[in-house]
Amino acid sequence: MPNTQETINLANTYILNTYKRIPVVFTKGKGTYIWDSDGKKYLDFFPGWAVSGLGHCHKRIVKAVSRQLKEIIHVSNNYYSYPQALLAQRLSSNSIGGKVFFSNSGAEANEAAIKLARAYGSEDGRYKIISMDKSFHGRTLATLTATGQEKVKKGFAPLPEGFCHVPFNDIDAVKQAIDDVTVAVMLEPIQGEGGINIADQDYIRQLRLLCNAKKILLIFDEVQTGMGRCGKLFCYQHYDILPDIITLAKSLGGGLPIGAMIASEKFADVLKPGMHASTFGGNPVVCAAANAVLDAIEKDRLLANANRMGDYLVKGLNKLKKKSPDVINCIRHKALMIGVELNIDGNQVVESCLEKGLLINCTQGNILRIMPPIIVNKGESNKALKILNEVIIAL
Ligand code: PLP
Repeated sequence: MPNTQETINLANTYILNTYKRIPVVFTKGKGTYIWDSDGKKYLDFFPGWAVSGLGHCHKRIVKAVSRQLKEIIHVSNNYYSYPQALLAQRLSSNSIGGKVFFSNSGAEANEAAIKLARAYGSEDGRYKIISMDKSFHGRTLATLTATGQEKVKKGFAPLPEGFCHVPFNDIDAVKQAIDDVTVAVMLEPIQGEGGINIADQDYIRQLRLLCNAKKILLIFDEVQTGMGRCGKLFCYQHYDILPDIITLAKSLGGGLPIGAMIASEKFADVLKPGMHASTFGGNPVVCAAANAVLDAIEKDRLLANANRMGDYLVKGLNKLKKKSPDVINCIRHKALMIGVELNIDGNQVVESCLEKGLLINCTQGNILRIMPPIIVNKGESNKALKILNEVIIAL
């Protein structure tokens, strides 16, 4: 096995330079912990950019995937496979009903949603999709156009037509943006990359009524908020409404690449054979992993744990805020989707935490994203709070 620097050199020589990487090589993970190639152990409170939502190498996932690997690895989508059919049934019956399209990533799940909305609108000439300022929906051309952040679009003109953006949590802005060609409104119930911005109850209620009245699809991007992160299986379940479409990815596969678009009954037959496809989408191995994720959430009562540990961590963070009101401005959270807004640059905090063996993230320059796996326990939370205390008090 090459040493740390050799791996970094190899990667820098041969991998396209599209990521800002931290010079750490990870070699092993178990639960809430991850080890680097020099043997250093870290508490992972931002596991795989919210992908390893059940922690690293969860037993149920390893077992289910190992078993599936010995049976069959790939079945193309012109045939059937049971893990895929079962996963679709479970996602549908645990959410808005209807049917599922499987992809390999969040951006592709959103592409599918955008295509479905356009296909639905094509019957009466509607195509425009309204999304939110500060949103993030992916890096393909359509999803980066839907994204409400200029930095992801720079250099890629001309962008697809038919997208517009409005401020988040502002129902009047949506009303004003709707015109004769509007077909969908797309949003994250909690903006992740945008800084843990939580949609208001009344805003979502009014959005649903508005979409009903105008025959506009309401698309919830739950790529980051889904699969128990916010204390319910899907974040929309905190609101008293049903979206027309939900998109998922990240922790759906417990670390394996899978995305999904769930379309409610009314829209489930808009896309007809030949209109959309993915060669790998819903492959039996990734579906076996996702079925194991659902098993773990149900059988190990992980939603209750996410709520309990979210409250516990936020209590600890609020104590820290009292000690350092000049550093911490406010804390926003739903279960284990936690944002700590700082009055200072957050990257220095992330770096100091890394040195002390705690992985977290900073978004929008000053918002710490703390999203431990939903299996996290009190002891691990105490360790993370201790490190955060040391780092913030020392500033
Ligand atoms: N949607 C949301 C809300 C996301 O947070 C992300 C990724 O961070 C995406 C879509 C894109 O997902 P992917 O990187 O799997 O394409």
